[in-house]
Amino acid sequence: MRHIPDKPRVIEAPDFWSRVCGAARPFLGLDYDGTLAPFHLERTRALPLPGVVELLESINRSGKTFLAIISGRPLSELLCLLGDIPIPLVGSHGFEWKYPGSRIEVVNLPREQADGLAVAGRTVEKLDLAHLTEVKTASIALHTRPLRTNQAERIEALVLPLWTDIASSHNLHCRHFNGGIEILSRECNKADALMTLFNRSGADLPIYVGDDATDEDAFRALAGRGIGIRVGLPETPTAAEGFLPDCRAVKELLTTWLLIDSGHSC
Ligand SMILES: [Mg+2]
Repeated sequence: MRHIPDKPRVIEAPDFWSRVCGAARPFLGLDYDGTLAPFHLERTRALPLPGVVELLESINRSGKTFLAIISGRPLSELLCLLGDIPIPLVGSHGFEWKYPGSRIEVVNLPREQADGLAVAGRTVEKLDLAHLTEVKTASIALHTRPLRTNQAERIEALVLPLWTDIASSHNLHCRHFNGGIEILSRECNKADALMTLFNRSGADLPIYVGDDATDEDAFRALAGRGIGIRVGLPETPTAAEGFLPDCRAVKELLTTWLLIDSGHSC
């Protein structure tokens, strides 16, 4: 059995690889933007780093790890960017589900929340900001990444109080994400999606990798029972246990993960 000499370091989680190697069937959940795919000013061009899809397919074929991708993006976009990869995909923060070989299933949004999102959409239309918005199954995102910093801050400061008011009366909530703000349902989040997938998987060690505020719910859900890894600087306030600096480091993690699943020893 060949030994892996240089495994990528998961910052602040020195026992990460020994825990992965000790698991009979690990579960690896991954966010998409900022985790598998570097950010791009044009969202439709935020592709995974070269080789990442092939790594995911190989890890999946090895049959040891249960893989899943959990994203805030609609699944229609995720499928365009990733291809119809044969692993479970969850989109729109847990409102859209797709298992390999099956069609997309959509969770129903309560009427009160759907009405609130409609009001939030009309509000940004009146402000002539509809071109910056993305309407999803259970949320509306205002994307400010393409704007200059001061312009982005001004627009977010204008919209956030209006959306916060709408959210409070329609059982929605608002949050910043890496590249804008979003008003979204309280019904589902990435933690719910992660734990549903994990509980169905038969896996024994849940691990989740993500880069954004919307991934913090998932990190909190894993406290004491799995490992959350935040992509970014170790100074970032987070509920995650460890850090990887960037998407390239995530690719290195997947490369080592495949070696382990292929029978190399830790
Ligand atoms: Mg992300």
